[in-house]
Amino acid sequence: MLNSDEVKRLALAVGFDACGIARAEALTDEEYPLHEWIARGWHGDLAYMERNADKRLDPRLLVPGARSVICCVSAYGSPDPDRTDGVAAYAQHREYHKVVKDMLYDLRQRLGIEAKVCCDTVPISDKHWAARAGLGRIGRHTLLITPQWGTWVNLGELVTTEECTAYDSALPASHPQLATCGTCHCCVDACPNGAIAHDGPPMIDVRRCTAYYTTHHSRPLPPDVDAHGYTLGCDLCQLACPHNRLNR
Ligand code: SF4
Ligand code: SF4
Repeated sequence: MLNSDEVKRLALAVGFDACGIARAEALTDEEYPLHEWIARGWHGDLAYMERNADKRLDPRLLVPGARSVICCVSAYGSPDPDRTDGVAAYAQHREYHKVVKDMLYDLRQRLGIEAKVCCDTVPISDKHWAARAGLGRIGRHTLLITPQWGTWVNLGELVTTEECTAYDSALPASHPQLATCGTCHCCVDACPNGAIAHDGPPMIDVRRCTAYYTTHHSRPLPPDVDAHGYTLGCDLCQLACPHNRLNR
């Protein structure tokens, strides 16, 4: 049995900015409308999203017997206004996979447990688990918004069969710093390609999203997708989000 307070203390000690712990149970369609997204074809040619859909929704299929998902946040800050190379904020500061994974390996070692280290490349949805663990909520632009750092965060998890003494839960829709999107559509309006669903569950049509093409260079940018000067990723919907204006 892991002491949850101690897990969080150690997460901060290895360099993370926040940590939450969720029970390893299936995400609901409301939390993560993965099946609807795939049914719409909005995942483009990301066939791996279809192949591992069940694992993405239930970490017990990823790690048999999993009881806990220890979710960690590493904040990287808003984009450097002096950069003119079209590189999005997440790639301006560091190679985040290595940074986050190294901290997770360190945390796992300090806890002395067996756990699967997850950061982007494992079939588990980092942002939806962070939301489940009460670290923020998913905005209309489909990114995790944290109360402290907006969307300028990297995420990673340890999935383990260990039980924890206490679990966190998703933030309420009426959270004082982080009310749900409501009538705001700033990100929808800011996207030059109409990639973000105007209503309904948060969803992006990746076939219309610059980042889909610029982070996978094997996909040429179609003439009707406006990269707006970005060469790697795209920050437009994040820059438009009021939660980020408060956190710049
Ligand atoms: S990253 Fe850019 S292209 Fe993709 S949804 Fe956001 S604003 Fe639109
Ligand atoms: S810009 Fe507005 S609608 Fe989009 S995620 Fe932020 S708060 Fe929600």
